[in-house]
Amino acid sequence: MKKDDCIFCKIANGEISSKTLYEDEEFRVILDLKPAAKGHALILPKEHASSLYELSDEAASKALVLAKKMAARMTDRLECDGLNLVQNNGETAGQTVMHFHMHIIPRYKNDGQAIDWEPKDVSQEELEEVKKQITE
Ligand code: AMP
Ligand code: ZN
Repeated sequence: MKKDDCIFCKIANGEISSKTLYEDEEFRVILDLKPAAKGHALILPKEHASSLYELSDEAASKALVLAKKMAARMTDRLECDGLNLVQNNGETAGQTVMHFHMHIIPRYKNDGQAIDWEPKDVSQEELEEVKKQITE
């Protein structure tokens, strides 16, 4: 279902125009308005899900298959040197538009971008503790 006040619902369903790279019954892939790099694209499901937590299993699996297809096409056409798939869930994680989307960010040698985090040192005990927290 669509959500009335959701801009990505409107874009995905064609009510607001976008630079569309691909469309089928369930998805639209558009160019990001403020790209991190040339060709930065967003995979949008047409059905509203605010984030990965709400996404159906079917849409989740199709989104990754679509990402794979777009990655091959974009790498061929843009001649990028690699790409990042980025998918933010929740404000704390950097999500600014609350409709599930997957970023495809082509990367070029010396593009000056960094999709990065600060690696931290942890003990084996800490790893064991978090492993237990998740698995038990
Ligand atoms: P996120 O921070 O993961 O929620 O990413 C939201 C992305 O949507 C950002 O990269 C924005 O530049 C992009 N964005 C926001 N509004 C639009 C729009 N109307 N058309 C295309 N991209 C958009
Ligand atoms: Zn939506």
